[in-house]
Amino acid sequence: MKVNPKFNLLTEEASDARDLRNTLLIGALTILVFGIMLLGTESGTGVLEIPTLETSLIALLAAFVTAGGLIALRLGRPARPTAWAALLGYTLVVTLMVHFTGGPLTPVPALYLLVVVAASFLLGKNGATLIAVLSAFCYALILFLEYSELLSMVLIWRQEFNPRERGVLLVINWLAVAVPALFTAQLAGTLAERLKTTNAHLRQSEQMRENMTEMIVHDLRNPLTSMIGGLEILRMTLGEQLDVERTNLLDNARRSGQLLLGMVEEMLTVSKMEAEAFKLNLEPLDLHALIAECAEPMRMLAEMEDLAIELELGENVGVVRCDRKLVSRVVTNLLSNALKYTPAGGNIRVTLGRAGGLVTVCVADNGIGIPVENQERIFDKFGVSTPDDRHGRRGTGLGLAFCRMAVEIHGGRIWVESAVGEGSSFFFTLPVDGPAGE
Ligand code: ADP
Repeated sequence: MKVNPKFNLLTEEASDARDLRNTLLIGALTILVFGIMLLGTESGTGVLEIPTLETSLIALLAAFVTAGGLIALRLGRPARPTAWAALLGYTLVVTLMVHFTGGPLTPVPALYLLVVVAASFLLGKNGATLIAVLSAFCYALILFLEYSELLSMVLIWRQEFNPRERGVLLVINWLAVAVPALFTAQLAGTLAERLKTTNAHLRQSEQMRENMTEMIVHDLRNPLTSMIGGLEILRMTLGEQLDVERTNLLDNARRSGQLLLGMVEEMLTVSKMEAEAFKLNLEPLDLHALIAECAEPMRMLAEMEDLAIELELGENVGVVRCDRKLVSRVVTNLLSNALKYTPAGGNIRVTLGRAGGLVTVCVADNGIGIPVENQERIFDKFGVSTPDDRHGRRGTGLGLAFCRMAVEIHGGRIWVESAVGEGSSFFFTLPVDGPAGE
């Protein structure tokens, strides 16, 4: 199931396919521009004779190369051989265009450079050098055919220059194309290879960071679980003998342990969802009861902070197919944020509604609010707004990132409406029948 992690580096294969798709689209655009230019060119003037039938056939060939490449990508063919085929096809197209638009008199050979730049990114330095050599060879062939008048398009040559002058001009012409093509292959090829290496290093360190986090978080879970279990047993066995103060201390320690365990599990879930390895455990649930269950333990905390939690779940929305653990954590996170960011005396309201196949939950507070410019960012991993919470603590910025992933994996949406100093309303939707295509 696909979620939308913000911090996502493309794999090498995906980035090759993306580069090729962009190249093919640029190819299509270039053909279109040249097509329009050719339509506007006066033909048959005696200087350049541009036969429309042939140019139409070239445009058709170019369109065939572009469409072939795009179809091959769509069918999941490997990017590299497809790129070779497309770039060889474009080199042929450019060569035919050069010939039919006036050989040495047209600006079309500049397109060879475009093909070489594309080759640098798609095939690396060696591939680009080969395409540059091939372009130089093709251009030389066209110039030779012009010179020898075997396939002459440029009538003016014959009138104005003798064979020797024509030869010199053609060599200069060829050098002006071949040398930049080879230079471009070296320069762009080196640049492209450097970019690829940097991308690979970034991917590697991102992977290492994720593995480390998962390892640490995973190893934290077991000692935490046994610590909470131990505290629970102590509380049960010593319950009668302890005074109120010590009982409270024990309860606080257990609650803090559970909070920590919740965070640890949240981090594990986030990394699983990012790796697309998370399996939803869907069951028909009464959201009404689930929200009430989540709000109950919060009430005590709210009272301690002189805050009120109101549930206005009047309407019966029926059952919703969702993952109990994930949705509970989303509601708990939103409630605990509302508690953290609302000053004493404030009010927190939870409402539930249904429209068609969607239920909407809203957790609203009249707390400090969130500036408009931060309202998107807070749903990113480590995205925090300012100022800090009512105890002056800066959050981790993981809770809402988790909420967004948990809601989106269900096929829902989460957003906030907020005004600084007036409060925030967090909304999330869930499809009643669970995620589509499940
Ligand atoms: P944390 O609260 O641990 O920082 P979250 O991802 O839950 O992580 O929240 C991200 C940020 O969004 C918070 O740091 C805070 O700035 C802002 N925020 C979240 N909920 C509220 C709220 N109800 N009122 C004001 N700001 C909020």
